[in-house]
Amino acid sequence: MPLLPRSSSENEPYRAALRHAIRSSKALLEFVGVKSPLLRPEVLQQPDFPVLVPRGFASRMKYGDPGDPLLRQVLAMPAELVDAPGFIKDPLAETQTGTDVNPAPALIKKYHGRALLITTSGCAINCRYCFRRHFPYAEHRDQKHTQALAAISADSSISEIILSGGDPLLLDDQALATLIEKFEAIPHLKRLRIHSRIPVVLPERITPQLLSLLKKTTLKTALVIHANHPNELDNQTARVLNDLKQASALLLNQSVLLRGINDSASVLISLAEKLYDQSVQPYYLHMPDRVAGTSHFHVNDEEAKIIYGKMQAHLPGYLLPRLVREIPGENSKHLLDIQLKDE
Ligand code: SF4
Repeated sequence: MPLLPRSSSENEPYRAALRHAIRSSKALLEFVGVKSPLLRPEVLQQPDFPVLVPRGFASRMKYGDPGDPLLRQVLAMPAELVDAPGFIKDPLAETQTGTDVNPAPALIKKYHGRALLITTSGCAINCRYCFRRHFPYAEHRDQKHTQALAAISADSSISEIILSGGDPLLLDDQALATLIEKFEAIPHLKRLRIHSRIPVVLPERITPQLLSLLKKTTLKTALVIHANHPNELDNQTARVLNDLKQASALLLNQSVLLRGINDSASVLISLAEKLYDQSVQPYYLHMPDRVAGTSHFHVNDEEAKIIYGKMQAHLPGYLLPRLVREIPGENSKHLLDIQLKDE
């Protein structure tokens, strides 16, 4: 039986929210009433990686505050033009098709038992620190994922499929349902994991149709959201996260440790507690990847360990995310070497 009846999503409110999203630094600064000359939005009027911010997310920024931690995540800044040594376009070596890591276009297989499918090139928001901001999506285009689905079917070691992007929840409900039905038909696939920032940045996208689809799938489902700061979470995110939980999805969060945004134990403790209030388990705190144009967000290992030690002293173990770094070629994420005490 199909997961969804056929219908059009063209008139869904989230489409209108995306159409009316803010698309320049200048417009964003006007929206939040910030006039600081230090931000100099004219320097990056048309960045290669465009500015994109839903108004709902921008309305959670503090009016008139040039240092607002949500604003700093999405505002194109002159610092992106700095050519810092060691910061490169593909720090995770994800882009070579035909290799063991990329057995088919849009398919990435780094770790045992899991494969990641790039479903879309777009996101609902463009985060300036994004590790895929230079990803060559055009080279990984395979509209129906024919080759990727064939490669997954042929590899019985894969029990978990991870939908990534871009943001996979930008696919409309019908496209998502069709893809999930194809996964369900592959006997060795047991689990579906969806990585999405949409419940936080465009909660309107969590439609009754999407909830119904998640409820009906026979695959065990986990949704990994992405919030970096407690101010990203409000009543609307609480509502949709509760809906997602009721739809039987395991809810996890991953954050990136970012200078000037959340490089403080008190902010990250508050984030962990607020996530838990909204039914989400803190999962990973990622060291930022060394992506070209993002060196101003970088936090070094020593600073990270001090912040993490304070989190550990304050939070119960189940609210403490794992502090990790991704290293190309390693068969799992690398835990930063911190001596954790028992509770
Ligand atoms: S939502 Fe995720 S993939 Fe999209 S720009 Fe932000 S960090 Fe990158």
